[in-house]
Amino acid sequence: MTTYGWIGLGNMGGPMTANLVAAGHTVRGFDLDAGAAAEAAARGVDIVGSIAETVAGADVVFTMLPKGEHVRAVYGGEDGIWATADTRALLVDSSTVDIETSQHCHDTSAARGFRFVDAPVSGGVSGAETATLAFMVGGSPEASEEAVGHIEPMAGRTIVAGGETTGIAAKICNNMMLFINLMAASEGSQLADRLGLDPQVFWEIASVSSGHSWAQQTWYPMPGIVDSAASNRNYDATFRADLARKDVTLALDAGVLTGVSLEAARLAQRQFDRLIDEGLADKDCSLIVKYASPDGGA
Ligand code: NAD
Repeated sequence: MTTYGWIGLGNMGGPMTANLVAAGHTVRGFDLDAGAAAEAAARGVDIVGSIAETVAGADVVFTMLPKGEHVRAVYGGEDGIWATADTRALLVDSSTVDIETSQHCHDTSAARGFRFVDAPVSGGVSGAETATLAFMVGGSPEASEEAVGHIEPMAGRTIVAGGETTGIAAKICNNMMLFINLMAASEGSQLADRLGLDPQVFWEIASVSSGHSWAQQTWYPMPGIVDSAASNRNYDATFRADLARKDVTLALDAGVLTGVSLEAARLAQRQFDRLIDEGLADKDCSLIVKYASPDGGA
């Protein structure tokens, strides 16, 4: 049995920690949001009031936080992980962050005597609930191997991508493809509808045809077709629009650095910008379907 320290119990961290508890492990969790903490407590996580209490006696410490700035604060703050954890603990960041933040975590962890891996995830809230997430791990071979064992109760597949920050690089590229595919599913769903196709029938055709994608399968932005889609629940977020914008922007920034042209990603970013400008940053990213719909509604 392992003792996990876990910081960030939101849409993803909540169900991920529930799977650790279900597998018989002890999880001590911390979140600034009282609602998120209460939900995790109901699923068996021991809620504590500080990072220091979270990491005390932990074999492994996970962070599942929104953005790079949150990860830097939780690691580097005066009472943060580096200041309060024992170097015996393996440090794992599963947040989707920029490569510079991840490299900073690797470098500072090493300088302070910690083992650190970047281990972002794919599979959404549904994958977190069903313990079928794909984890992509970057770090030293020894630390990565150690992390794989701790990840197992939450994962469908765990792939070691390579050295430091390769997990996060894979995640940035993957999510750029996801959000471009989401645009395709949004526009395809609306055009099929206006061409008089039964939405369910068209979804079944796309599912066995070349329009198939994870976004089309899991987030199809029309109500009543796919159970896991936010379209069934008034677009309450499983993946917030502002986090989707963050991920596409991470890819665009990497494109500038590497000279790779990312026209489709630029279009996706523009759609998330529109949602944010309309005050819909905390709604689900699949609400971009409204921009394809002739009546602007979904
Ligand atoms: P979320 O906003 O639902 O959860 C993040 C949690 O972190 C919140 O509960 C927030 O209160 C907490 N938090 C923020 N700062 C904190 C601090 N200083 N100390 C303690 N808690 C703090 O976000 P999420 O959807 O769970 O996503 C988390 C990460 O996983 C993001 O980087 C996201 O891009 C990535 N991700 C999300 C999904 C998805 O489908 N939602 C899928 C894969 C990866």
